[in-house]
Amino acid sequence: MSKRKRPHGHYCKICGEYKANEKFSGKGHAAHICKACSRLSAAEKAAAMDINRLMGFPMRRLSDGEKKWLQTKMHDTNSEVADTAREIYHVCFPHAERNAMKKQLIINTLSFEIHTEVYGGYGDMETADRRFAIDRKSRVLAMEDFHTESGEQSVTLEKGQMAKLLRYIVHTLEIFMWEQDYCLNLDEDVFFTDIFLDEGVYVDDLEEKEEDLPTEPEGRPFWQVHVEYSNHTVQDISSYNDYLPERPEELYFSLLEYFDSEDEIF
Ligand SMILES: [Zn+2]
Repeated sequence: MSKRKRPHGHYCKICGEYKANEKFSGKGHAAHICKACSRLSAAEKAAAMDINRLMGFPMRRLSDGEKKWLQTKMHDTNSEVADTAREIYHVCFPHAERNAMKKQLIINTLSFEIHTEVYGGYGDMETADRRFAIDRKSRVLAMEDFHTESGEQSVTLEKGQMAKLLRYIVHTLEIFMWEQDYCLNLDEDVFFTDIFLDEGVYVDDLEEKEEDLPTEPEGRPFWQVHVEYSNHTVQDISSYNDYLPERPEELYFSLLEYFDSEDEIF
């Protein structure tokens, strides 16, 4: 703890308060434990000390020891200690969640549908009215163009190509954070919020709380994504906003590329 002006009284190492001398017994005085705190159980004392340390946690780059201690406290059996530690951890390491999740998430299938206009290569608006589907196991990338009604085309990717594409979608485009990043679901608590950093990452069961969801806007979404991950989580995004954000747009063009090169053969 930094330069706190030392008030009068005697410091209690459990509650972290400075109290008048009469609040301490003779023995407590020497042990730096006030009368109130001395009545606490050993577990309560430990929790109070942890909370105390957490509240005064330095807001600077943490040492390895501090980081390790904080991570341990995130799993403390005392829920107040664990919650406080998690809050502080997320303040200190805002990207830790994402980065840890990236290592865990493998896309099994992805479907991306788009019905809007995008800026083409020459700055002109062009119609994007397509659906893409990716299947990791069969390595098939399929596209249907509703605008030209040319039916479904598909390409089978090399193993490495498919892995690279899926990694790009998770690691670079961070598709698993699109709800939060683009505020797509008003009920933001539904997806990927109950995350606990473990040795591995645990993503809480993603229950669709349908009764809590706001009534869906009328009409067809301008774009939507459905992803199934290997850890059995499912992500559903629908955007009723005509504006196509940067990363969905990037996904659109990078998927389209697999088919543009095909066209040139003919
Ligand atoms: Zn005390």
